[in-house]
Amino acid sequence: MIPAKDALELLREGNRRFVSGVRSIDTMTSTIRREELIAGQAPFAIILGCSDSRVPAEMVFDQGMGDLFVIRVAGNVVAPSQIGSVEFAAERFGTQLVVVLGHSMCGAIEATLEELGRPSGDQSPNLRSIVGRVRPAVAPLLETELAKSPEALLKQAVRANIRASASHLRHGSQILEQLIQKGRLAVVGAEYWLETGEVEFFDGVPA
Ligand SMILES: [Zn+2]
Repeated sequence: MIPAKDALELLREGNRRFVSGVRSIDTMTSTIRREELIAGQAPFAIILGCSDSRVPAEMVFDQGMGDLFVIRVAGNVVAPSQIGSVEFAAERFGTQLVVVLGHSMCGAIEATLEELGRPSGDQSPNLRSIVGRVRPAVAPLLETELAKSPEALLKQAVRANIRASASHLRHGSQILEQLIQKGRLAVVGAEYWLETGEVEFFDGVPA
């Protein structure tokens, strides 16, 4: 399996292609590999991204079938099933890079900020389970000057939530913690910008 650093470079290159509107031949022809993939998969990166329809992981990184192990949930929150999915891929396939992929103007973060501003209590328990996981990372921001500027607040809240999810993956699982200690796994936080199509890797980037 390719090391995290090299896997990250493949994602960076893929995102550059996406931004400039080109697709690699490998990506375009990847469905031809469908039969070859029946025998097994070896995804080079695990992506924990938001469910937002505007941030499809394979597209923004210009990757094809069999390349990425993708977990998507609103607000890219980390619950036990997400940790379990990452553990599964890291152990079963030996994938060494995990990217937590949040994005600008995330609706789940906006919903959490709204709920913190004026609690309505009418959210379904299921939606609350998502908001409840975003809340601890973003609530402290409301105690700062940012509270006066909704746009800046949302920007920082998106980042704080990505950092919190990445940290949760690094420390919320013995299996993942051990892989990280052995240098066989890196968890990186990244933000996708809806405005430009660019992905910015900003947290835990391997040196
Ligand atoms: Zn989102």
